[in-house]
Amino acid sequence: MAANSEWYEKDYYKVLGVDKTASEKEIQKSYRKLAKEYHPDANPGSEEKFKEISVAYEVLGDATKRAEYDQIRSQVPFMGRGGGQGPFTQGNPNFKVDDFSDLLGGIFNRRRSTTNNAATKGPDKEVTLTISFKESIDGVTTAVNVPIDTRCAVCSGSGAAPGSKPVACARCNGTGSVNESQGFFSFSQPCPACGGQGVRVDLPCGNCHGTGKSLMNRKINVKIPAGVEDGQKIRLKGRGSLGTNGGPAGDVYIKIKVGSDPSFSRRGLDLLTVAKVSFPEATLGSEIVVPTLNSSIKLRVPPGTKSGQILRAKSYGVTGKRGEVGDLLVTVEIVVPKDLTPEQKKAVEDLAKILSKQQ
Ligand SMILES: [Zn+2]
Ligand SMILES: [Zn+2]
Repeated sequence: MAANSEWYEKDYYKVLGVDKTASEKEIQKSYRKLAKEYHPDANPGSEEKFKEISVAYEVLGDATKRAEYDQIRSQVPFMGRGGGQGPFTQGNPNFKVDDFSDLLGGIFNRRRSTTNNAATKGPDKEVTLTISFKESIDGVTTAVNVPIDTRCAVCSGSGAAPGSKPVACARCNGTGSVNESQGFFSFSQPCPACGGQGVRVDLPCGNCHGTGKSLMNRKINVKIPAGVEDGQKIRLKGRGSLGTNGGPAGDVYIKIKVGSDPSFSRRGLDLLTVAKVSFPEATLGSEIVVPTLNSSIKLRVPPGTKSGQILRAKSYGVTGKRGEVGDLLVTVEIVVPKDLTPEQKKAVEDLAKILSKQQ
């Protein structure tokens, strides 16, 4: 953020000693005078000041950049100095960081990072694990194959072929950054010879092509807790890809996909199922056997039960994280027989007659 917030914190007009309404000519004149005065050749020890003047002129001397700078400055409600009270904490509701980096074309981009050898966390990896409906209710321990970057076994992660060693980069003396001259002053940027790593591998390891990492299928045993739901993710901290330059390993996320079950579905901690009941059973009331996930239970169907009515078997549902248990909800479906024997047909006809007399 240091480079990004510089436009907020630095008053370039003040640096160049000109008024905000100064013309291009006036700005140029003032810059030339100051540049001469503070040029490091003429005035040793004035590099910082000289750099400041150059940066200010690079913005104010360019009509487009000056307009952007003026606009940004006009949006900042607080123009005080540092102390954690910069624009990023003070906040302007109209200000978006994304927009801001767009405005920073050109000069600041190259200053964001001057080396690439900082310790960085390895990338996270997400894999999908499909488990059965029953496993999601009961919990399961299973092995998952996760493709991740691991330390190359051939070169032990150095990236150098066996028998050779990475050497400090001669171009940047192992620092990872070089100074590039731009006009009067210089910018620090990642060393192009070593990619900012500070070390060079002259003879790359054939297995990892010098990266020090190789992609492997790591078999990880995961314990899926009972009651897990479809789409839930389980985080395995530090089990992912190797970090860079000694950074920590990334995380693995196991995304759970729960398969469907022919008999059961789930709503929260309640299990849902359907029980088929005959017309006499529903009319007269009966006791039916309903399968649960692990066995079966007997359930009383009260006389006069309608089709679609829900019977509740308490505590035969899913066990939640804190030990709370849902219910088994059984939807009654009255079965209408299709192919009747003459005897059955006669009985139904007799019933129909009796029922019509009743009305
Ligand atoms: Zn280098
Ligand atoms: Zn290797």
